[in-house]
This record gives sequence, structure tokens and C-alpha cells, in this order.
Amino acid sequence: MKPAAFDYVRVESVDAAVAQYSWSGDARYLAGGQSLLAAMNFRLDTPGLLIDISRIDALRGIRLQDDAVIIGAMTCHAEVARHPLVARHLPLLADAARHIAHPAIRNRGTIGGSIALADPASEMPACGLALSAILHLQGLNGTRRIAADHFFLGMYETALNAGEILTQIEFPCPANPADYGFAEIARRKGDYAMTGLALVTGADPRIVLFALSDRPVRARAAEAALATGASRDEVVARVTEGIEVLGDLNATEQMKKHYAQVLLSRLLAERGPT
Ligand code: FAD
Repeated sequence: MKPAAFDYVRVESVDAAVAQYSWSGDARYLAGGQSLLAAMNFRLDTPGLLIDISRIDALRGIRLQDDAVIIGAMTCHAEVARHPLVARHLPLLADAARHIAHPAIRNRGTIGGSIALADPASEMPACGLALSAILHLQGLNGTRRIAADHFFLGMYETALNAGEILTQIEFPCPANPADYGFAEIARRKGDYAMTGLALVTGADPRIVLFALSDRPVRARAAEAALATGASRDEVVARVTEGIEVLGDLNATEQMKKHYAQVLLSRLLAERGPT
């Protein structure tokens, strides 16, 4: 199918993008287009105006600032996967980025687009949660920051206000970057996950499940068990405790619960006996 008719404007700054949005009743920001254009082609989304933010230099790049890695929202998945700062400080993110689709999509799709879209089966929102990311937003009323913990509100639903742009993602550098695990179960390499898990171990562990509920979710019961030195079996048994697991076309609720246990068990086993 072809998309419904729409207008298009390319902007050079975040201020200009936000101003354009405020003048239009029904606009969408165009980043890598890897999700938005597909939705428009299927007429699942029919915006009247696309505001192309892909040429805004201020939204690009990866840098170290104080004790955090700052990634511009328009940075594509391929750059995240290969960047030396990410490899050194956030190997979990690099590992996860390589699980996103195929090279062509990773070269266009962006970390900001992925987080703003909040597909519950996406890798980047889950990593944002696992790595305690801070999201920087800019709208007509100025800028604000919000923790990833408070950003994902439901299926494709976030704390972004109408017209707000996610400008950059701040990842605090973990004390021990190698203390992580990442795994997912997909039908074929590059497919969306049927269930996935991002793990950060250490004093304040985080276990984040994705493609399992309506948003990426922390497995808080399992995190608490892990933090208090419970056995691997007990941690694994509690991985979906208190979480509303939603079956879908790919896997039933029971299958997803089982997958979550298998993934966590494997990742903890790789880290040695407990
Ligand atoms: P776009 O498609 O341009 O935008 C998506 C939405 O986010 C739009 O509503 C847009 O307005 C909004 N938006 C974009 N950027 C911003 C911003 N900075 N601020 C505010 N709003 C913004 N993703 C995965 O995670 N895992 C996969 O396995 C996977 N497989 C895929 C397979 C295929 C065949 C395809 C086509 C896509 C796949 N994707 C997958 C999606 C891909 O990762 C996209 O890149 C990502 O979901 C959206 O990023 P984008 O830059 O293309 O955003």
C-alpha cells in the first residue's frame, strides 16, 4: 500500500522542529523512518505533516560527559553497536544493538526513534531501563529530563508530551561495565524478540524483560532475590512474579514466562555458580 497524502518539511534545529509541530494539528517527527514509514504505508498512521529531524546535527553523536555516555537521539543503531565509547562503558548496549533487525535497518533506525516509539519488543527501551538512563526532552515549554523508569507508560505509550522531542539519552557509566547479560529468543536472527532479557548485576542489580508485557518491565522480585544472594533457582523462579505477562501471536503467556526463566537461568549460569 501507499501512504495517505502528507506534507513534508525538513528542519535544521530542534527549536524549528518544535515550532513546526506547534503550527500543525497533526504532525509526526521523522527520524530513521524504519517504523513510521511502515505504519504509514499500512495506513495505521496518517499524519498530515512529517517533520524531518534527521539532519539536525545537535541530535547526533556519542560523547563522554562527566561519568555518563551521552548519545544523540538521531544516532543510528549501527553506530551505537560499533562505537568505542559504547564498547568500553556500555557493552550491554552494544550487544543489544546488534540484535536489532538487519544491517540496512540498523543503518537508518535510531536509538531515539526506538525509545520514543516504545515498542514493547524493542531492545533499546529495555536497555534504557536496565542501565538507568536519563532521557533529555525538549518541547515548546523548554527542556526537561526524565528517568527511563518513569518514561514507558504502556504499549507505544510514553511520557513524551505532544510535540516534545527526545534529544539525547544519558547513560551513567556503570562501575563494572562487564557485569551484564543480554539474551533474547526470536524465530530467526534479526526478527523481533518473542521474549528478551537485559541484566545488570552488582550491588544494585537490574533485570529487565521485554517482548513480554505492554512495555519493558523490571523483574523486581527477581532483582530483590538476586541482591540478597538467593540461589539461582530462586531468582529464576521469581522472574515474572508480579508482572502482567501478555501472550501474542508469537507466544502464549505460558511460553513467555518459560522463555523468561530460560533466559535468566542461562545468563546467571554464564556468570558462574550460585
Ligand atoms: P521513526 O520510524 O522515524 O519514528 C518512529 C516514531 O518515533 C514516530 O512516531 C516518530 O515521530 C517518533 N520519533 C522518532 N524520533 C523521535 C525523537 N527523537 N523524539 C520524539 N519522537 C521521535 N526494532 C527493534 O528494536 N528490534 C527489532 O528487532 C526490529 N526489527 C525491525 C525489523 C524491520 C523489518 C523493520 C522495518 C524495523 C525493525 N525495528 C526493530 C524498528 C527499528 O529499530 C526502528 O529503527 C525503530 O523502531 C524506530 O527508529 P526510527 O529512527 O526508524 O524512527
